[in-house]
Amino acid sequence: MIRLHTNVSLLPYNTFGVDVSASYLFYLNQLADLDNFMEIPGLREMSGNLKRILVLGQGSNILFTGDYEGIVIKNEIGGIRIIEEDDSSVIVEAGAGVIWNDLVDYAVSRGWWGIENLALIPGTAGAAPVQNIGAYGVEAADVIVRVTAFNLETGQWLVLENSDCGFGYRDSIFKRSLKNKALICSVIFRLSKRAEPRLEYSGVREELDKRGISNPSASDIAEAVTAIRRSKLPDPALLGNAGSFFKNPTVSEAVWLRLKGDHPGIPAHRQGDLYKIPAGWLIEKAGWKGYRSGNVGCYERQSLILVNYGNATGREILDLSDRITESVYLMFEINLEKEVNVI
Ligand SMILES: Cc1cc2nc3c(=O)[nH]c(=O)nc-3n(C[C@H](O)[C@H](O)[C@H](O)COP(=O)(O)OP(=O)(O)OC[C@H]3O[C@@H](n4cnc5c(N)ncnc54)[C@H](O)[C@@H]3O)c2cc1C
Repeated sequence: MIRLHTNVSLLPYNTFGVDVSASYLFYLNQLADLDNFMEIPGLREMSGNLKRILVLGQGSNILFTGDYEGIVIKNEIGGIRIIEEDDSSVIVEAGAGVIWNDLVDYAVSRGWWGIENLALIPGTAGAAPVQNIGAYGVEAADVIVRVTAFNLETGQWLVLENSDCGFGYRDSIFKRSLKNKALICSVIFRLSKRAEPRLEYSGVREELDKRGISNPSASDIAEAVTAIRRSKLPDPALLGNAGSFFKNPTVSEAVWLRLKGDHPGIPAHRQGDLYKIPAGWLIEKAGWKGYRSGNVGCYERQSLILVNYGNATGREILDLSDRITESVYLMFEINLEKEVNVI
């Protein structure tokens, strides 16, 4: 027997700590409940003809700007299992509700490589493919083999191979044509048993050096990344936030040359013919670092992170993001794109 909870506060379910509620909330603990969910009497009326269904993991990449008038499915499908294993690699399936960092711990404690640089990213395994989470030179797409999902509109199962997922920088098919349609139920990863340290990203090597480690294990790298992240990022349990609010913009060589002429010292990472510019640098130069007005502000140590100092509403946070976008555009003629999902 499954149950829809009515008029539920989403305050504990979003890391921005915004106090909104959902008309209906359904805790999805096992796949078998999905069929029952689709059979709930009045489902179409409650969900605006299936258009108002939101799948929620840990709410660490979401900004609610008002009450959610529809059904929130809180994905709590657990379980990690080994599907295949040989001398060099292991194929692991994680239920979509598995906490991402628990999966990292599971892998590194067994000496498996591939996701150690993604340690301490908040959220669930099921959300990892949605924006193709990434940090310290590694992306989820590097290790995802396949994603299993349920199409909430058609009631059909989908199996998407890595190449079907449309992975890009903080992007995938789940943010595009399958947005609000596909409920990801499990993600399958290929991890390596052979040492494959990725230390080129600034800070990781230095942190390991500081610890006197020259030949790190996957676990050493996860610990180093965890320490770096703890020193740089606000803990959502103490200060509401959703990590980077904006994506780092990517520009053509012509735009890059113009920017470099106007703003000598502007940093960029070359990616083929394009240049990726740290959005945090642009926001800082536009004068927002450490800005605070009432309940909202720009984190003092990283201007890419917008924070809720108390009882901010989603609207207040969104307004601040609009003001930042506008001033960055005025200064650099670059349009910042949001990384956070605004609901
Ligand atoms: C302090 C902090 C640091 C962060 N650092 C990073 C970082 O380094 N790199 C990075 O990439 N991200 C980072 N993030 C963002 C966030 O952790 C990731 O985007 C994470 O994957 C979100 O997981 P979640 O379960 O909280 O998803 P939610 O916020 O609940 O959902 C995010 C989106 O995914 C959809 N979704 C969630 N679960 C499913 C599912 N099972 N099926 C279909 N759709 C689903 C939701 O509908 C929503 O659109 C950070 C966030 C915080 C707060």
